[in-house]
Amino acid sequence: MKVCPTHGYALQRITSPMSERHGLTALPISRDKFESIPIIMNLNERVKGQLLRIASDIQLLIQMQDTQVFYNSRRLLMHRLSDMGLVTPGARVRQRKLQEQFVTFYGRELLNMLECAPQQNDHSWLASATRSMRNVVHPLRLMLLLRYLYGSFSEFLKRSDQELALFGKGPWPCLNKAAGHYREDIIKECKVTRCSDTGQPVGTFHCACGFSYSRRGPDQSEDDRFRRGRIKSFGSLWEARLKGYLQAGLSYRSTAINLGVDTNTVIKYADGNTTRHTCCLKVTGKKNKVKKPSTLNGCKPVRVDWELRDLELSWQVEETCKELMNDQSRPVRVRVATIGKRIGKLSVLEKHKDRLPITMNILSNYLESVSQFQIRRVRWAAKQMNGKWPLKKWKLVKKAGLRPGYSPEVEDEISRCISYNTLISPLTSTEVTQWLH
Ligand SMILES: [Zn+2]
Repeated sequence: MKVCPTHGYALQRITSPMSERHGLTALPISRDKFESIPIIMNLNERVKGQLLRIASDIQLLIQMQDTQVFYNSRRLLMHRLSDMGLVTPGARVRQRKLQEQFVTFYGRELLNMLECAPQQNDHSWLASATRSMRNVVHPLRLMLLLRYLYGSFSEFLKRSDQELALFGKGPWPCLNKAAGHYREDIIKECKVTRCSDTGQPVGTFHCACGFSYSRRGPDQSEDDRFRRGRIKSFGSLWEARLKGYLQAGLSYRSTAINLGVDTNTVIKYADGNTTRHTCCLKVTGKKNKVKKPSTLNGCKPVRVDWELRDLELSWQVEETCKELMNDQSRPVRVRVATIGKRIGKLSVLEKHKDRLPITMNILSNYLESVSQFQIRRVRWAAKQMNGKWPLKKWKLVKKAGLRPGYSPEVEDEISRCISYNTLISPLTSTEVTQWLH
């Protein structure tokens, strides 16, 4: 700081007398008892004005109780850079353009005086401040960057409040039904990321019990804080509880209800898949740990954010699977290729399975085996032939497009549909009503 934010005068350095005791400088009470000179002189009005505004920014920062938002500004800052057209479609910061605009904004004189002129290469402080968070940037430099991007530090704070308010005020509830602290507000951090395609915010909440979930925002109502969009990891507590329920002889269905998930998830974890799945989750966990220093500092990785892509893709995949299952026209089998083509992401689904654990997990809940698909066709055919009574087996088989050699489960479904038809049709069919009269 070079000037007083309250009075606007340049700060002074005492020249004499300097009485130093135990490393402390004693300052005489009266102004006429010591001599001093201003630490900066002959400033032009423009630089003076800038110094004063920077001093106010610093004063504001010093008065803040919680400075987290300042030191974690990286992620927000990336959104702003993007809004200002300083990020390429490939999520790289246009460093040269940023540097040019930054230097023009402050002017060389001021930047040199503050020792904040960025060097003209890839290793300038400006480049590291907008790249990964492995390098520490001096708070004054960060402050200058924020002022350039937002106009002032207070404007930055206003924006960050808005950004955080997308998911309500923290702490946020843990939505792990297996935990004693279920729905209690104990998660302190909400990581907000943006979908690169839609720009929609995604909030991720990670509880100390190992449970983490994400949901798309912004929240529409106060109740949304209990909306658990997508579970990213269950954690050891949840898994232990699952094992306990199953060992105690509880059915998959009641276990699912107790744990707040669908039956498929329980089956998946109970069937030897557990090792495979926890393995997947552990890998993601490890990745998180490696990334932690950067996330702590609020950095948005400039490369492809696979975690985020996985999450976005999982929503798309789920929506498309549901559409396909609910479609009233002739059934189409749910396969990776079908879904991939429908959302136009087939090659990603095929090539990057390993990087998309959540999407793959969701997809596997919907994928149909041959006989599952045949059963769905039988049901569809029976529905189509509703009102035709009696329902002939050969007609149903033909309508469902079944070839001989289908499994006993499919056979069972055919019988079920026929007996159901026999049971209800006499009451609804006009033909029979007439006959009864
Ligand atoms: Zn928890």
